[in-house]
Amino acid sequence: MHANPGNVFMVVAPSGAGKSSLVKALLQQDPSILLSISCTTRAPRPGEEDGREYRFVSTEEFKLLREGQNLLEWAEVHGNFYGTPRDRIDEATRAGRDVLLEIDWQGARQVKQRFPGAIGVFVLPPSIEELESRLKARGQDEPQVIARRLMAAGGEIAHAPECEYVIINQEFSVALSELTQIVSAARLRFSSQAARHSQLFSQLGIPAEH
Ligand code: GDP
Ligand code: ADP
Ligand code: 5GP
Repeated sequence: MHANPGNVFMVVAPSGAGKSSLVKALLQQDPSILLSISCTTRAPRPGEEDGREYRFVSTEEFKLLREGQNLLEWAEVHGNFYGTPRDRIDEATRAGRDVLLEIDWQGARQVKQRFPGAIGVFVLPPSIEELESRLKARGQDEPQVIARRLMAAGGEIAHAPECEYVIINQEFSVALSELTQIVSAARLRFSSQAARHSQLFSQLGIPAEH
C-alpha cells in the first residue's frame, strides 16, 4: 500500500555555506540515513577520496553514465558536471531508507519531478562576507575557483524559495540541531508513520490517506 516509506532529503546551498559539514555531522549522529555519492568531473580536492565524497570520473565516463540513463539527475555547476547515480536512490527508497542528496538547485528540481515528496533544505550563510571568508578559510580551492563560486552564490541563493526549509548556518551547533529537527519532522508525517507502522494503523482502524 505504502510502497515508498523512505524520505528523500535534498540539501542545497551556495558553495561554502556549510552544506557538507552539516551533512557529515548529521550522518555521524544518524547513520541510518543513506548519503548519495554523486559523480563529478571536477578534480578531487586535497583529502578527498574517490567513492567517499564523490565518484570522480572523466567527461567521457560522465557522458556514458548519462546516456545509459544511470543518472537520476545531472547538472553543470561551476563549469563541471555533477550527477546523482540512480541505483543507490532506487535501492534506498525501495528498502524504506531515508536518503540524502547534496545537490544544486537544478538537480533538486529534477529530483522533485521524480519524487514529488522530496524535501528540500536550503542552507544560507549568515552574510556574503562570511561566505567569502569560509571559502577562503577552507583553503581547498584556487583563488579563481573561489571567485567563480562567489559570483555564482547569488544565483544559487535566488532558488531558495524552491525549498521547503531554510537553515541559516551561523552557529554550527544550532544549524545542525535544526537539520536534525527537519529530519525528525519528516519522519513523523502521516504518510511516513503509516508506512512504518502499517500493522498498528490497520489494527487501530485508521483509514488510508486521501
Ligand atoms: P561545495 O559547493 O563546496 O560543496 O562544492 P562541490 O564541488 O562539492 O559541489 C559543487 C556543486 O555541485 C554544489 O552546488 C553541489 O550541491 C552540486 N552537486 C554536487 N553533487 C551533485 C549532484 O549529484 N547533482 C547535482 N545536480 N548537483 C550536485
Ligand atoms: P559547502 O559544502 O556548502 O561548500 P563546507 O561544509 O565545506 O561548505 O563549509 C565551508 C567552510 O566553512 C568549511 O571550512 C567549514 O569548516 C566552515 N563552516 C561551516 N559551517 C560553519 C559555521 N557555522 N561557522 C563557521 N565556519 C563554518
Ligand atoms: P563542490 O565542487 O564544491 O563539491 O560542489 C559544487 C556544487 O555542486 C555544490 O553546490 C553541490 O551541491 C553541487 N553538486 C554536487 N553534487 C551534485 C550532484 O550530484 N548533482 C547536482 N545537480 N549538483 C551537485
